Amino acid sequence: MSANHHHPALLATDPELASFIAAEESLQAQTLRLIPSENYVSAAVLEASGTVLQNKYSEGYPGRRYYEGQQNIDRVEALAVERAKGLFGVDHANVQPYSGSPANLAVYLAFAKPGETVMGMALPMGGHLTHGWGVSATGSWFRGVQYGVRADTGLIDYDAVRDLALAERPKIMFCGGTALPRTIDFAAFASIAREAGSVLVADVAHIAGLIAGGAHPSPVDHVDVVSTTTHKTLRGPRGAMLMCREEHAKAIDKAVFPGLQGGPHNQTTAGIAVALHEAAQPAFTTYAHAVVANAKALAEALLARGFDLVSGGTDNHLILMDLTSRGVAGKVAAKALDRAGIVVNYNTVPFDPRKPFDPSGIRIGTPSLTSRGLAPEHMPVVAEWISRAVDAAAKGDEPALAAVRAEVGELMAAHPAPGLPLA
Ligand SMILES: *Cc1c(COP(=O)(O)O)cnc(C)c1O
Repeated sequence: MSANHHHPALLATDPELASFIAAEESLQAQTLRLIPSENYVSAAVLEASGTVLQNKYSEGYPGRRYYEGQQNIDRVEALAVERAKGLFGVDHANVQPYSGSPANLAVYLAFAKPGETVMGMALPMGGHLTHGWGVSATGSWFRGVQYGVRADTGLIDYDAVRDLALAERPKIMFCGGTALPRTIDFAAFASIAREAGSVLVADVAHIAGLIAGGAHPSPVDHVDVVSTTTHKTLRGPRGAMLMCREEHAKAIDKAVFPGLQGGPHNQTTAGIAVALHEAAQPAFTTYAHAVVANAKALAEALLARGFDLVSGGTDNHLILMDLTSRGVAGKVAAKALDRAGIVVNYNTVPFDPRKPFDPSGIRIGTPSLTSRGLAPEHMPVVAEWISRAVDAAAKGDEPALAAVRAEVGELMAAHPAPGLPLA
């Protein structure tokens, strides 16, 4: 990577680091990114997130701070809060959590004591680490019990969820996850949580943008707390929000600060405010529906090429592919796809006989390619590239991977990503 013209101060001060960023800009521009938890923020979000708001300490909340000089910071945070409330239709929003995992930890702090029982979806079934899984603090400081999907359908087994909830009476119940290709029935979870006396949390980190754009049902009328990251389908900076009804507002705010965190990252709060503003525009509704239309078209095209998809397809932005029948392990396929210019992550599939660090599947999704303007008519070629790369992985055919990479590069050059400098 030679000269970097996009970050002149950085280039002058620290050319080595500047070269890494320039290389990452090229990599993001040239590759087809299918990781479903990633996206490209707009240039406006990038600008807001890299400002002098960085220089300010603001422990507390707007109008109730522990440091002076908050006249502008208070307006930034209040605007982000108002926009979150408006977009998601909630009474209360806290925009300070540093990321999704600390946001969830704040929920535990607000509603449970160490050692008490909490319930979530098992990690290998598609749940998140922070829903009480053993290797996470949430699974060692609390007693995590876990539900999953049915082996025959790949869908959440609501009868089993109810049986477990009534047997265990968890203090907190999580719904949502990281590898769920199907619509979550928030009303079904709500009726189970009511029966079990649990605080119900919808962790919509993956699907917040779809909810904002009306492409997935909203949990807001059904659950006690909504937890979300801001950087996945919502297309904001890396951060998180907790939203709830007024009755839980104090508990949530106290848990985030002073319970868990110190000063909020004001530059991130500003980026979140901009992303929420963008997500309230009609173009974002179009985007959210296009993400789902692309995922459905991609699932169809993959099925037509003989791939096995968990649950047989998708309702949202995400597809979980089981590569067992192709004779390739997930990690081998993911690494081959990476060499072919297609960026995915390897992932366990439900009831995976293989180990989490070397599982049977890959997880893909359409938020990023949709942000670049790809449409359903492009999905057959994307499926063809995946198929060629997976077959090449099985045979160790490096020239075939290089050929896919060249084709990918051509399509990506014709569809520049938001926020990235043009080459
Ligand atoms: C991504 C994700 C998180 C964690 O977010 P981080 O910002 O990576 O800490 C939590 N829950 C779910 C469901 C997620 O998908």
